[in-house]
Amino acid sequence: MLQYGVDVSGFCAEDNSEVLSCIKKIFLFPWKDAGYCNKLIQDVLNNPAVDIPALTAVLEESIMRYKKFIAQNSQQDLFPTTEFNRLQKRLEDWHSQIGLLTNNDITEFMSEYSLDEFFCKQFKERIRLSAIGTPEAIRKKLDEFVIGQEVAKTGLSIAFYLHMIRTGVLQPADFDDSNSDIDFQSLPNPMIMLIGPTGSGKTFSVTTLCDLFKVTYVKVDCASLVASGYVGTNLNEALLMLTRKAGSNEEAAKGVIIFDEFDKLSELHYSRSQGSVGGVELQQEFLSLIESEERKLISRKYHEDDPGILETSNILFVFTGSFNGIEHIIKRRLGQKGIGYKSNNHSEPFAEENVLKFVQPEDIEEFGIIPELVGRISYFVGLDKLTADQLVAILKQSEKSILKHYQYYFSLHGDSLKITDDALGLIAEKSLEMGGGARMLRMVLQTLLSPLMAQSPDNNSKNYVIDRDYFESFFNNKTNKPK
Ligand code: ADP
Repeated sequence: MLQYGVDVSGFCAEDNSEVLSCIKKIFLFPWKDAGYCNKLIQDVLNNPAVDIPALTAVLEESIMRYKKFIAQNSQQDLFPTTEFNRLQKRLEDWHSQIGLLTNNDITEFMSEYSLDEFFCKQFKERIRLSAIGTPEAIRKKLDEFVIGQEVAKTGLSIAFYLHMIRTGVLQPADFDDSNSDIDFQSLPNPMIMLIGPTGSGKTFSVTTLCDLFKVTYVKVDCASLVASGYVGTNLNEALLMLTRKAGSNEEAAKGVIIFDEFDKLSELHYSRSQGSVGGVELQQEFLSLIESEERKLISRKYHEDDPGILETSNILFVFTGSFNGIEHIIKRRLGQKGIGYKSNNHSEPFAEENVLKFVQPEDIEEFGIIPELVGRISYFVGLDKLTADQLVAILKQSEKSILKHYQYYFSLHGDSLKITDDALGLIAEKSLEMGGGARMLRMVLQTLLSPLMAQSPDNNSKNYVIDRDYFESFFNNKTNKPK
């Protein structure tokens, strides 16, 4: 039945999008029969074994009741069209913008439509458990964007889960808000370090989570960071960048800072020409930032307004870097301890290219990061070098695939673009050959597609197909014409 634009015939809730779709339906449907639905939902929710299929069954029954209600009352205009359109639009925006629901989103939605308080409370708990409330659900969402890197995705999901609870955006499942003793600040600060080759998805994984949760983030390149008192970007500047982007110190206090190329601060790598003090001095500054609860910000120019104080205890710090050479440290340690690499008992052999998986805090210390700082970081995750198959999957499957952007470009001119699997494999291999992991995909695609992009905006509609022959002849002889 298509009632008020909503198909209410059988549906099931197996994943996040289905849950969202259920919520959408329940919000739209029981408008005039909310009391009955609330009771049903309450019954289901009071059952500790309740799961999504059970909730779906309740919804289905409610829908049948509603159909009957409509038939008996023959009130086809229960919901004024303009009001319905407004609600429909709001729900669509809500659905498309919010990858993951937060408490604030739900509260905002419910208050906007004056939904029954009891219903909201119960439903919020349901949503928390099923759609967003667990690191597993966050991880599942991340899977839609980030290919491979299983360990990193799990570590980041836990880190973000903790971060969202510490900043009050999420509440844990089974949380009793009448218990005033609960102190979320006592949870571990989920600082995380991601170690992996360029273009393996370190920054992308973090920024994707920030986008999903609508968390403000900034990325700071540690290779060009200077110690306080020197000209250039220092840690004060990094914090100012965050407050500016967040719009207020309160919002910035819930933000994320990605310190990229953190390995460049190691004693072994820091170049004196960058700041006339060593990287270790900068590392000490990081330590004091992490240990402090708040920071007095210093304005950049003397006539600027006082930027005030920034609470830093809840900011999530993520450290990333390629840590070139750390694989030798890891291999040596593993070899010495007789586990894994070149060991006599062969208990845990590993592939040469994935040695970073075995990274431990002591390896980071040996690399030249001070132990006090290493001791403050909760997770150390090594990322794999991406394979050609994974690069193909990035192009074909990732929600943010750059291939989709190029296809969109052609569609704007009435054209279509198809790349055969063969050609995708070649594009992936070419990218790997060039080094730089997934980063090179864009360059290879851009090079390959540039001639077509130039000719696309004319009046004829064309179906471009990039196949093995085209790829091979293109890179051997760039004058080749597309099919
Ligand atoms: P780095 O590891 O050097 O921080 P990035 O995360 O910035 O690399 O990756 C560069 C680009 O490559 C990203 O914007 C994204 O488009 C793509 N990418 C890299 N790794 C992955 C991955 N595992 N899954 C999907 N896309 C990826």
